[in-house]
Amino acid sequence: GKLLTGAGGLSGHVGHTLADPYGPQCGCGRVGCVEAIASGRGIAAAAEGSLAG
Ligand SMILES: [Zn+2]
Repeated sequence: GKLLTGAGGLSGHVGHTLADPYGPQCGCGRVGCVEAIASGRGIAAAAEGSLAG
């Protein structure tokens, strides 16, 4: 149950590679992670944003 962060804090989390420095907030505390953009939640949020805007 302990999060393994690795030397760079990114161990096992390729999805937290920076993809867009102005992207959405990620669960890891950074913004613009691939995961935040390309995950199901990210896509849903983007879809909601497009519908709202
Ligand atoms: Zn992240």
